[in-house]
Amino acid sequence: MVEIKTDKSLEAMRAAGRVVAQALTAVREAARPGVTLRQLDRVARGVLDEAGAGSPFLNYRPSWAPVPFPGVICASVNDAVVHGVPDDSRLADGDLVSIDCGAVLDGWVGDSAISFTVGRARPEDTRLVDTAYAALEAGIAAARVGNRIGDIAHAVGRVCRAAGYGIADGFGGHGVGRSMHEGPDVPNEGRPGRGMHLKHGMVLAIEPMLLAGGGDHHYTGTDGWTVRTLDGSRAAHTEHTVAITHDGPRVLTAL
Ligand code: MG
Ligand code: MG
Repeated sequence: MVEIKTDKSLEAMRAAGRVVAQALTAVREAARPGVTLRQLDRVARGVLDEAGAGSPFLNYRPSWAPVPFPGVICASVNDAVVHGVPDDSRLADGDLVSIDCGAVLDGWVGDSAISFTVGRARPEDTRLVDTAYAALEAGIAAARVGNRIGDIAHAVGRVCRAAGYGIADGFGGHGVGRSMHEGPDVPNEGRPGRGMHLKHGMVLAIEPMLLAGGGDHHYTGTDGWTVRTLDGSRAAHTEHTVAITHDGPRVLTAL
């Protein structure tokens, strides 16, 4: 079941998305070597609180999770792909960090993720992060009325594969609305011209997850949440919540 949002609902989702963007911006500014992931979580909490927004991440517990998620951000460092727990570990010079954040405002959800390096970046990490953003942009550009889900998936996947990177197997984007995860699934790889037709008022989270080693495999760590690359290579994750409109794709989680 895919909910078509009214234009009024899209405006409400834009407000939620802006809060997410503000939280991610604040986290990005606070992130540097020596800072703990828990400190970054507090920064995001402060932004959500200030905006009167809730968190769709905090205490989230899907059927496979052994414990509720303890933060308002996922902080995934180096070989962590997604779902990193914001604990007391400290960022180190040259770390590659992906931060995923959500907000709920007036009952509507925004969902977005950024990837960046702290301190002195390794060139190979800069290339991985740049490609993760290029894949996201390609996916957004394909999020148009008249296209299909497979066009988005194909656009994302070809950027990742052309650069030689793996794509996290079994993970991808999703519909967003009053809950964080709605239909349809938005895979990070697929065939153009296939899948559901995109209509004005659909809202999708597009979220490439790139694995530097070129493989697609990953495992979940002992905390029950953190997804890591199987080969130990680094990963990057970017995400926007995007509305399909007659005027083209509208990024709801921009600043
Ligand atoms: Mg997310
Ligand atoms: Mg998402």
